[in-house]
Amino acid sequence: MSARYDAVVVGCGHNGLVAANYLARGGLRVLALERREIVGGACVTESPWRGWRVSTAAYVVSLLHPRIVEELDLARFGYAAYRKDPASFTPLEDGRSLLLGSDAQSNAREIARFDRDDVAGLERFEAEAQRLGGLVYQTLIEPPASREALAERWGVGDACTIFEESAADLVRRCVRTPVLQATLATDGLIGTFAGPLERGTAYVLAHHYAGRAHGVQGAWGFVRGGMGAITRALALAFRSAGGEVRTQAEVERILLEGERACGVVLRDGTEIRAARVLSNATPHRTFLELLPGDALDPAFAERVRSWRCEGVSLKVNFALGEPPDFTARRGRGLQPHHRATIHVAPSLAYLQRGYEEAAAGGISRAPMLECFMQSPTDATIAPPGKHLLSVFAQWFPYGREGGWSAARREEAADLVLATLARYAPNLPAAVEARQVLTPPDLEALLGLHHGHIFHGELLPGQLFDQRFAARTPVGSLYLCGSGAHPGGCVIGAPGYLAARAAIEDLSAAPR
Ligand SMILES: Cc1cc2nc3c(=O)[nH]c(=O)nc-3n(C[C@H](O)[C@H](O)[C@H](O)COP(=O)(O)OP(=O)(O)OC[C@H]3O[C@@H](n4cnc5c(N)ncnc54)[C@H](O)[C@@H]3O)c2cc1C
Repeated sequence: MSARYDAVVVGCGHNGLVAANYLARGGLRVLALERREIVGGACVTESPWRGWRVSTAAYVVSLLHPRIVEELDLARFGYAAYRKDPASFTPLEDGRSLLLGSDAQSNAREIARFDRDDVAGLERFEAEAQRLGGLVYQTLIEPPASREALAERWGVGDACTIFEESAADLVRRCVRTPVLQATLATDGLIGTFAGPLERGTAYVLAHHYAGRAHGVQGAWGFVRGGMGAITRALALAFRSAGGEVRTQAEVERILLEGERACGVVLRDGTEIRAARVLSNATPHRTFLELLPGDALDPAFAERVRSWRCEGVSLKVNFALGEPPDFTARRGRGLQPHHRATIHVAPSLAYLQRGYEEAAAGGISRAPMLECFMQSPTDATIAPPGKHLLSVFAQWFPYGREGGWSAARREEAADLVLATLARYAPNLPAAVEARQVLTPPDLEALLGLHHGHIFHGELLPGQLFDQRFAARTPVGSLYLCGSGAHPGGCVIGAPGYLAARAAIEDLSAAPR
């Protein structure tokens, strides 16, 4: 069977769907293909247990670009986000803890228990992180600039900070309380195979402050009904613009005519012709698996092979019969800190040690954890009285020595639970079910190459014009996923930029 489209999109992650929307709104006949039975990629809500709505992978939103939300009218299709406040809660084993949010007076009281000087220090840090995040925000839906152009625009000092410094440099400049330093530095480490001292992690931190989804630079929050509400809204918007979505449709090959992409072949042999192909798959999948071996210049193929893309993130979703009861803030019922990001990050030294254990070939024996409970603020997430605890843990490398096995997956989840139990002893008994996703599981389930949550590190050498661009070396083939500028997180910008490039090329083509 052969059909002809103006564009076919390979993959219905949020970026593929954003691209598909803009192409359809540009008047093109568009088909979006997804290998899984549902759309969403890493931005998805599923029900591993009856009555639960679990954001399988991504769990909070900040960077989803306001322009995309507005132009595609996503609110009309069910997208609604709300800010997470308090923002962070970091318990310590000695019974102290730190709860931070939008209330400056409450922050001051919390920090003064550790170090009065850090009250002003936190304000300085927030202002600086928001300022750097704001610089990154301005570049999100622009074609990638060179480092030189960015230095001219931002000033050499800010460019140096963003490209050369570590997350630890940024936080140490402002605050000195170990638990505060570590809590703030985690934004520079998420999804990244680097410790807090590694040069360039300042960019990762600025990236996590680049969002404005909640109207406040760098604020994070939840999506009503879970993250899948974003991709559901995108799919509905796409269909209402005349687009066609097909699930359980894995693309096996991208078809070429001369040096141009002209369609795809599905795993079941179906051939689909299209004037252009946009790939939401990872750079590795797109360039090294879907294209014929000789389609690429060897230097470009080598660049794809040497792309830093080793996933280190372990996701464990716990179904709880009762909320965690933290020794540092006792109580069986729900309290404000249950709505915050719950960190296990007592000091920079703890984080660095965790990273070094993994860098030496193992896994972090004392992992960095970032935990979220959406159920206290959204009754659709868990059955009445129950709670979803979503845990993001590092560092658990894809390529750990000895590899991964079913037993090692469970051991890793046990380690996460035992780590949490040091702060909330009721936890092991409160767990009724769990879903564990190691980097190889993320690869198998979601198609993330080597389980990397951003389709490749967001570190210097892989940013801006050194990340992949929307236009690829193959004519009529565009990269619309997170491997392209400006990279990972739920942003929509790579999809937006790829659609824009395809539409520009169409208008420039001779008629
Ligand atoms: C565990 C985890 C937690 C995260 N937490 C957050 C968070 O809280 N907030 C945040 O902003 N970001 C988070 N991220 C990162 C973010 O989710 C991703 O960077 C982003 O969703 C990637 O979007 P994408 O559209 O570029 O690609 P993907 O979501 O990877 O989508 C690619 C799609 O293409 C499909 N596909 C691949 N190959 C083919 C093929 N051959 N044929 C057909 N279909 C194909 C895949 O099945 C998939 O649906 C997290 C990621 C993970 C894994």
